[in-house]
Parts: sequence; C-alpha cells; structure tokens
Amino acid sequence: MIITGKNHQFMVVLKQGEKLIESLTAVLKEKEIQGANLTAIGAVKDVELGYYDLHHKNYVKKCFEGDDYELISLMGNLSLKEGEPFVHLHALISDKEFNVYGGHLFELTVAVTAEIFVTPLGAMPIRKMDSEIGLALISDRREM
Ligand code: ZN
Repeated sequence: MIITGKNHQFMVVLKQGEKLIESLTAVLKEKEIQGANLTAIGAVKDVELGYYDLHHKNYVKKCFEGDDYELISLMGNLSLKEGEPFVHLHALISDKEFNVYGGHLFELTVAVTAEIFVTPLGAMPIRKMDSEIGLALISDRREM
C-alpha cells in the first residue's frame, strides 16, 4: 500500500491481493479522517456487488469471480455507522467483452492496482438506522 498527497487530498494505492474496503477502512481509521469523498479506478477481481431491494429490505447479491475486471469507476463516502468508520461505495466494473456491471460494493480484491482518491470533508456524516427503508442512512453531521 502506498499513501501519497499533501494539503487535504491524498491517494491510497493498493497492491495485488489487498481487499479494498478492508484496507481503505483501516487507512481512514488510522489517519482519523472525518468524512470523505472517495473515488477510484483500477483492475480488480472477486467483486461482490449488491442491488438493494426496497420492498424486501435486503440486498440481492452477485459475485464476479474467475476473471479480472476493469474498475471503471468507484465512488462513495466515509461516514460513521454504529460508532465506527464506514465506507459506502458503488462500483462499475467491465469484463473483456466490455460488458459493464455495477452496484453497491460489498468487497473486492485488487487484481492489478487500485488507485483511490480521498478528499476529506472535515466533518463526519453519521448514519442511523431508518426502519422504513431498512438501511442506516446519513441523518446527521458532526462538525470537527
Ligand atoms: Zn450502496
């Protein structure tokens, strides 16, 4: 893992075999980042994506395994959920036939690289369970 940058923005570069959400959450926690805008590109594998079924209040999940995928676009944010830093990401990936798949990202493994751009917000959004929706949604914001 490489971390580079100055001022407020920085970049986290993950290497082959690293799990993106696990590694990124650890970095953001260690650096005590308070909220962030997250974007990334790269090449990845073992991608688990989800589609939230509002009527059943659960995720339909699909795993993309057995090949490498371009990580065309990854975007999301850092917030606080149940007192812990929580990374919420959505991803678009493509295969060698240029088919594109996308959804809520549960986890992926780096196949080649993951170049993640972190723009701290300076304030930690807070997620609280919304029982009507069935998800912990951003409902409050705490200033640093
Ligand atoms: Zn999501």
